[in-house]
Amino acid sequence: MSKKKIATIWLAGCSGCHMSLLDMDERLLEVAKLADIVKSPVVDGKELPKVDVAIVEGAVASDEHLEELKHIRRQAKILVALGDCAITGNVSGIRNRVTKEQALERAYLDSGVNLDGVLPTHPVLQKLEDRVRPLHEEVPVDYYIQGCPPSADKIFYVISEILHGREPTTEGDGEVKYG
Ligand code: SF4
Repeated sequence: MSKKKIATIWLAGCSGCHMSLLDMDERLLEVAKLADIVKSPVVDGKELPKVDVAIVEGAVASDEHLEELKHIRRQAKILVALGDCAITGNVSGIRNRVTKEQALERAYLDSGVNLDGVLPTHPVLQKLEDRVRPLHEEVPVDYYIQGCPPSADKIFYVISEILHGREPTTEGDGEVKYG
């Protein structure tokens, strides 16, 4: 069986889901027998080639996230939403309680971290979307791994089942069961 290609990508999240992924510890070696991780915050690949599985942490909060997510969907046969920010918005979505202008003012003006007293406007900076959104509001998602963060056991179970060509089992609410 030829090795599959995996990517793990981090949009608007705290990296906690990727920390949990790394907590698979020695089971990462089992994954490595079945697949090459070709792009990830934990490897050096910069471009996203065509992959069998893309595992995405975090929500869509900016124009760059949206563009990247659409690219991921074009490149990946299977897209997995990793963690509650990717699935519901969760912590990243807390800013939906206020307008993006209010969020920017709070972060850059009221907090006192910006001594110039102006909002950052450089053209290379990402632009916030009006509303933080989960992945499935923008592209079709194939599997959801719930949790904040999901446990390493749950992440390993889903990745392992997919790489072996099996279907991870689900309950009525769509939560992937594991173990
Ligand atoms: S689901 Fe929790 S751990 Fe994962 S990115 Fe969001 S806040 Fe962080």
